[in-house]
Amino acid sequence: MTDIVVLGSTNMDLVAYVEKAPLRGETVTGREFCTVPGGKGANQAVAAAHAGGTVSLIGAVGDDAFGGRLRSALEHSGVSTDHLRTVEGPSGTAHIVVDDEGGNSIVVVPGANGTVERLAPGDEGLIASADALLLQLEIPLAAVVAGARTARAHGVRTILTPAPAQPLPPDLFDATDLLVPNEHEATTLTGRTDPLQAAIALLEVVPEVVVTLGESGVLYAARGEEPVAVPAPQVTAVDSTGAGDTFVGALAVALGEERPVREALAWAATAAALSVQRPGASASMPHRSEIDAGYA
Ligand code: ATP
Repeated sequence: MTDIVVLGSTNMDLVAYVEKAPLRGETVTGREFCTVPGGKGANQAVAAAHAGGTVSLIGAVGDDAFGGRLRSALEHSGVSTDHLRTVEGPSGTAHIVVDDEGGNSIVVVPGANGTVERLAPGDEGLIASADALLLQLEIPLAAVVAGARTARAHGVRTILTPAPAQPLPPDLFDATDLLVPNEHEATTLTGRTDPLQAAIALLEVVPEVVVTLGESGVLYAARGEEPVAVPAPQVTAVDSTGAGDTFVGALAVALGEERPVREALAWAATAAALSVQRPGASASMPHRSEIDAGYA
């Protein structure tokens, strides 16, 4: 089994469904409300666990009611939370308003995620024994850099999702093996709108890049090799939330099993295509048997 460690965020998504989102100063009555575990770190951890990895999450939740629920949801999905700290104060929350046209507006309050500023004792040993470390940018950058450097020092593959999109320091690129931006993030990092040009530009700072292109699949580029386009399976999408996290989690598992890169990419694209056919983020992430059946 592939040993995966994720260093990242855990949020409770608070989702209100409304006909039309309120303007400033306006109050509207919503139709429905739900709470859904989320956060890019937790989502990638669940995706990797469902895809068959042995997964641990390093991060923090608050000592509020959400913290306990987030922890048990992760454990229920097979993610180890031994390195998920409980800190004083609120858990991370994402306040999401979804309107009848499917548009949304989101406020993310980092809460406990903002306290993850460095690795805790014991985290280094966990990272050192992993096959891959998955990183995103929803916790303080100093911790992301520390995690990447620790993994690099122990020869552990680092896979970075540069979301939310923002310019990155050179020392983070230096410790990244595989960068997985979506089109928007690739443009933010390079100033190039063409995904191929963006991928080629990114090879100057990292050895391998996968740009995810939604329903168009992915573009893979590695130094000294011809770029490869891997199409997405054609499906009817009902909710693409978490598609990128599903892709990364499954890809990390497949690469850890030393499957050839093209096969790993296609298998992960199969996982992501399965996830977009069902509502929700972590709830929609497919299990290994389903991915294998869809890939065959
Ligand atoms: P999200 O923020 O929703 O998690 P993202 O913007 O990070 O997604 P995308 O590029 O939209 O990432 O999607 C990631 C991968 O998921 C794609 O490369 C593709 O393999 C798969 N995917 C996304 N949308 C579809 C779709 N409509 N049909 C099939 N596969 C899809």
